[in-house]
Amino acid sequence: MTPLEIELVPCLSDNYAYLVHDAEAGLCAVVDPSEAPPVKRALAARGWTLTHILNTHHHPDHTGGNLALKQDFSAEIVGPGKDRDRIPGIDTGVDESTPWTFGGRTVTVLEIPAHTRSHIAFVFDDAAFTGDTLFAMGCGRLFEGTPEMMWTSLSKLMRLPDATRVYCGHEYTLNNGRFALTLEPANAALVARMGAVEAARAAGAPTIPSTMGLEKQTNPFLRPASPEIRRALGLEGAGDVEVFAEMRRRKDSF
Ligand code: ZN
Ligand code: FE
Repeated sequence: MTPLEIELVPCLSDNYAYLVHDAEAGLCAVVDPSEAPPVKRALAARGWTLTHILNTHHHPDHTGGNLALKQDFSAEIVGPGKDRDRIPGIDTGVDESTPWTFGGRTVTVLEIPAHTRSHIAFVFDDAAFTGDTLFAMGCGRLFEGTPEMMWTSLSKLMRLPDATRVYCGHEYTLNNGRFALTLEPANAALVARMGAVEAARAAGAPTIPSTMGLEKQTNPFLRPASPEIRRALGLEGAGDVEVFAEMRRRKDSF
């Protein structure tokens, strides 16, 4: 099976949509199209024809391009089956119990609620599209779930292999990293990563994709067991969920 080609498409002010192209099968999916025009330009530049629209969750900055793209390409819209009412134009609902294939590939759907109650991730081979649940050095806000729910969702993503590439919904990395440094200034991997992130952003380059291995080393929301984080929060004896919840609470007003 030939490897998929993945192209990042900046949308709105800080969103990313992604094109996932299977040359052999003649298929091309877009993940989380905030808006149609940049997606159409990226397709035209590559000479690809859209066949699928995938949504990780219902928010407008992830689904805003659904209907226009469906109209132009007759593409099939695939999204969380538990949220059919909130996904514009949905054709196919998927969840962990409904395997979904793209060409000859089985795509793993992970249910990772908390940012929204039906948020999902799509995992194609070694590429995970994590929407607004896992960001580079951050995680999504808890709009429709509890800290415990988000910690369970992030723990599920942490079981993916370290080499898994992480494609998330927003370019929030620089701000996320600044927050991470307030909790773990002595984390050498974090300090090194921030140097690279600052250089990339100064050059106008994206910081995506990340990898699960790098996230586990540098993303505080995946590291509630870190003694340095616990000391910073004064929560040495607390459980992981309590530490996670306090980090999320602080980040909300960072
Ligand atoms: Zn969202
Ligand atoms: Fe978003």
